[in-house]
Amino acid sequence: MSSNSKYRLLIVDDNPAIHTDFCKILSFEDDSELQMAEEELFGACSESTPAPMPFEFVIDSAFQGEEALQKVVEANNADQPYSLAFVDMRMPPGWNGLKTIQELWKVAPNLQVVICTAYTDSTWQEICAQLGHSDNLLILKKPFDEMEVLQLAVALTKKWAVTRKADLRQRDLEQLVEKRTAELRHAAAHDPLTDLANRTKFNKRLLSAVEQAESQGTLAAVHLIDLDEFKSINDTLGHMVGDQLLVSVSQRLQSTVRREDLVCRFGGDEFAIIQEPVANMNEVDALARRVQEVFCEPIQIENNSVIVDLSSGIAIAPTDGTAPVDVVKNADLALYRAKGEGRGCYRFFKAEMDRKIQSERQLAVRLKKAVKQEQFVLHYQPLFQAKSCTVCGFEALVRWRDPGRGLVSPSNFISIAEESGLIVPLGEWIISQACEQAAKWPTSMRVAVNVSAIQFRSGGLVEAIEKNLMSTGISPDRIEIEITETVLLRDCEESLNTLHEIHDMGVRIVLDDFGTGYSSLSYLRRFPFDKLKLDKSFVNDVDSDPDAHAIVRAVANLGECLGIETTAEGVETDAQLELVIDAGYQQFQGYLYAKPMPVADIEREFFSSGNVPTIATVPVNPLAEMSNNIDNLNY
Ligand code: C2E
Ligand code: MG
Ligand code: MG
Repeated sequence: MSSNSKYRLLIVDDNPAIHTDFCKILSFEDDSELQMAEEELFGACSESTPAPMPFEFVIDSAFQGEEALQKVVEANNADQPYSLAFVDMRMPPGWNGLKTIQELWKVAPNLQVVICTAYTDSTWQEICAQLGHSDNLLILKKPFDEMEVLQLAVALTKKWAVTRKADLRQRDLEQLVEKRTAELRHAAAHDPLTDLANRTKFNKRLLSAVEQAESQGTLAAVHLIDLDEFKSINDTLGHMVGDQLLVSVSQRLQSTVRREDLVCRFGGDEFAIIQEPVANMNEVDALARRVQEVFCEPIQIENNSVIVDLSSGIAIAPTDGTAPVDVVKNADLALYRAKGEGRGCYRFFKAEMDRKIQSERQLAVRLKKAVKQEQFVLHYQPLFQAKSCTVCGFEALVRWRDPGRGLVSPSNFISIAEESGLIVPLGEWIISQACEQAAKWPTSMRVAVNVSAIQFRSGGLVEAIEKNLMSTGISPDRIEIEITETVLLRDCEESLNTLHEIHDMGVRIVLDDFGTGYSSLSYLRRFPFDKLKLDKSFVNDVDSDPDAHAIVRAVANLGECLGIETTAEGVETDAQLELVIDAGYQQFQGYLYAKPMPVADIEREFFSSGNVPTIATVPVNPLAEMSNNIDNLNY
């Protein structure tokens, strides 16, 4: 209890003279009486340091029970409650003392009450019968003894103060527990970084969304969303920027949905939206489109302007599943498809995705084993000098010798090898095989090796090339590394550095499949390519499509102007050959004169005489021996 505490007392009595008496007893100028009362009750303080009197009573008067109630209510509202009331038993014409006390306790249960009775008033039993047994009530028989009144006032006020303090403390603790419980409950259901709902909340909500959709005949859509290339953003710009990016992404996603939809983060760069309720597919499509559109604008983080591409996979309940786990699995399959189809797009689940992905997953498992057991072979396709029609090199093209299926085309497994990372060990094997073979060929023959963008990102490519140059002793300028623009698309600086390192060893760098994909001419300014290989689709259409014809010529001119060699891929007819030679290509490659073939055929057909091979020496049907074992390779 602090010193100088003021306690409010209420005297309830219909007789004004009684009020005067109470005031006299309780509001003393000289506090020695009060101190004496205290000392009698609670013991004396040490003599040397008399304790300051802690009490000051503020005394109010009410002359009727109803008035007392009003005062108690007002005091409570003003947060200045009464600690003690002296209540007269008889107060005509209004409530008597017992009724008054009953009413006061309804609004102030802790109010200490001294009921002032004459000897003829109710008995203790009667009082208890009406008010119950309460330790907040004492009886004071009239006529009063002053010291008795004082002691009651001090003791009951002290009791009230202690009880109130304990009550307040308990209320604070309860509020704290309530607050902490709410915080814990929130943390259990939300992602700490973005404050979006987490997987637990997602699962709960999805369950009710699916049930709701089924019972109401509406739809519930799950959009699974993944940032494309988030890892490389994290790696290049750092985790702080990565985190800020995730927060911005979550805000943008939140801005695309309605209040009733739920945006979640599962962790990493995986987000989800539960869109529910939905009346029709158009609404789902519209949200999926909005999600893509809202990320057209780059996100500004510190001094970085970050372009974020998202892929989304969407499944709908109950059409694509009635169990939440199925809906999520199907949205995941759709997401996988979206990522496979160029990223930065959305796909709806379709039943055949399930079958396709199952078979791709099985293929990935078999491929892993194949890489371990080196079930691969390189075939080599000759490259011809356009003017002389002599062979100047060979492109190494990998085939999978699958024990169950024969030779499998790279177009059936390279993308899976890339997704699973198997392209890294497979790519190293290809480089070592190609170098080893080419080292046995005449020194005028180059070998071209295709290298995937994943190999660039994995690190270790420079070392792998270096190692094979050393072990085989082959001259670096006999090696051509064929890359596509995807190598330069992302992580541009890092890939450019790697390319320069390889180039600096003396290895030639070729831009393959030129004209497809992004075909940003800026790449040609940023890296000194040794050769451009025009994609075969243009040569293929050159007779029928004037645009293809124009592109075939334009690329030859471009190469000439930039001083870069050009090769035309996919030459299948004499007319095509005539055209590419006329356009100015230095080299060509195509089925017209030579398909990819096993190394034994190459060595037998081209190198056994020791002469530089020309088209006159190219076998008429170079793949005759392969025709019976390549069901997947339709040359
Ligand atoms: P690419 O590097 O553009 O290879 C040329 C592809 O065109 C080869 O297909 C080749 O057989 C085919 N081709 C050549 N001339 C003609 C023609 O006149 N007509 C037609 N229709 N096609 C022709 P292939 O061997 O099936 O390889 C397909 C792609 O797989 C390659 O395209 C390359 O991107 C990838 N690939 C092949 N081997 C490897 C490899 O060792 N490593 C990596 N990373 N990718 C490889
Ligand atoms: Mg190639
Ligand atoms: Mg190509």
